Amino acid sequence: MSKKVFIGTDSGATTTKMCAVWENGEPVSSKVLQRPTHTEKGREAVITSWIAGASDFLAQNQLQWSDVAGVGLSIPGPYERYGVFSITSNLPASFSGWDVYSDYRDALAKIAGRPLPLVCGNDGNFGGVAEARLARGNSKATVLMLMPGSGLGAAFIGADGLSLDGDTLAGMEAGHMPAPLQLFGLTGKPFTCGCGRDWGCVEAYTTISGLPQLLAEFLKRHPGHELATSTASTKEKVLSLRTRAQKGDALALEIFDFQARVMGVHVANLVMALDTSIVVIGGGLMDHEATTPEFRERYMRIIRENARPYLWAPQRDTVKVVAAELGELSQAIGAAVVAMYHSQKA
Ligand SMILES: [Zn+2]
Repeated sequence: MSKKVFIGTDSGATTTKMCAVWENGEPVSSKVLQRPTHTEKGREAVITSWIAGASDFLAQNQLQWSDVAGVGLSIPGPYERYGVFSITSNLPASFSGWDVYSDYRDALAKIAGRPLPLVCGNDGNFGGVAEARLARGNSKATVLMLMPGSGLGAAFIGADGLSLDGDTLAGMEAGHMPAPLQLFGLTGKPFTCGCGRDWGCVEAYTTISGLPQLLAEFLKRHPGHELATSTASTKEKVLSLRTRAQKGDALALEIFDFQARVMGVHVANLVMALDTSIVVIGGGLMDHEATTPEFRERYMRIIRENARPYLWAPQRDTVKVVAAELGELSQAIGAAVVAMYHSQKA
């Protein structure tokens, strides 16, 4: 019996993850291969690292290039056009304008000895594809995924299992929509956001990127808190909050409860537009290694409670808000699954 696999390549700025799925979408291995991306050594080194990683992954799983039916590549945006990097915050400036799609496709054809179909896309969207496949099972339900981390990743997965990419490949940049601040009791100017918008981006109220501003705001209500006088750097202070919250620190809990409220309202906001029946929440706050079940359940409960009043009546009983399952593997698996979906369409 001939085996057919689809390779997923998830290229982060520092680490690339490799995996593969069978024709039915099941992962070939639960172990993902990780390699340095070598962005500092230039374009050729990156491609060489991906090819070597894929070859090693195949060998580790008793597979060969002749078994490969397609490849997916997950890369951070923004893009100049399909498969071409634009200026990306964590990549060398020299990568701007690099047609990574064509270079990877050519290198794959060389190692495989025949052309291999390659799909290329946004890492967050590909992660959403993998999570959606699990969350909806055999149904055709559409899925909204939100991933609060350093920023707020967002993806919408349609009935065909694929993500909404948009006409300029900037679809679902939902972290940079404004939060309805009047609901949250914050006075003063909207928080600033890394994207430069001044309208109070949801990302600033729901992710690590906005924690310095949230901490400053909430310390006003806790003037005696240890962090008010601590000499630690702002980064150390905000990164300590997740652990503090899980130890019952009132200030830290208030901050994450606040983030969950904003996220809940944003869920409702997006469901107004998309009418999805499944919402998957991923990111660092759902990380099983860094958070307790109690912490995760509290966060999810507050999201559900704050979304519910703003949904239409039929949606209140049907919209499910669930935690992501694949963690940091989702983008590599998603890239492979997208390659598989494309081969089925072709
Ligand atoms: Zn923004």
